[in-house]
Amino acid sequence: MKGTLFVISAPSGGGKGTLLRRVLSSVPKLGYSVSFTTRQPRAGEVHGRDYFFVTRAEFEKMVAANGFIEWAEVHGNLYGTARAQVEKELADGDDVILEIDTQGAANIRQLGLAATSIFILPPSFDALRERLTARGTENAAQLALRLANARREVLDYQYFDYVIVNDEIERATAQLEAVINGERARRVRQQTMIDKILATFGSN
Ligand code: 5GP
Repeated sequence: MKGTLFVISAPSGGGKGTLLRRVLSSVPKLGYSVSFTTRQPRAGEVHGRDYFFVTRAEFEKMVAANGFIEWAEVHGNLYGTARAQVEKELADGDDVILEIDTQGAANIRQLGLAATSIFILPPSFDALRERLTARGTENAAQLALRLANARREVLDYQYFDYVIVNDEIERATAQLEAVINGERARRVRQQTMIDKILATFGSN
């Protein structure tokens, strides 16, 4: 695997969607893994862009065929990361972002995949509740479930390499870009290019 895997988690309504869209358009050679889910599409969501929307039976078939790197049940629906797409992009040397819940992030850690993990923390519980309510995409029961789950999810911040507080979008975007660029500057990630440069010096 030549590319770097970035795992990003945040409680629902943490504003990670906006943050990710901005970073995906500003940082070159960064792919996004479109997950599979059994959740119903929201208004405006596009199959193949936001998610691959599938039935529970289709999802379970993919699980049985080992088609997911990781999958989890989140807020009552199933979500999974397709193995084929991610492995191909990494093998091609591209970096890939997985936007998954904290159980998925834990599964990636247990697999021993070299990944950089980033937790997006909302500035407060009230801010999260306001954002999620204003978004208006969930009914009252779903909203309550997501907020209850958020109280548990934020405690998982401690398992992540980086934490970005999503208080102000410009600042948070700049910080996420800095994390990605910083990881890309690591010596171990640049060995092939370093070897080429050193060869011009007549060493090696
Ligand atoms: P939403 O329904 O708001 O789009 O997503 C709900 C939760 O599912 C979010 O925490 C999101 O990060 C997570 N999620 C999305 N795709 C995946 C996936 O492929 N695997 C896992 N484990 N979680 C996912």
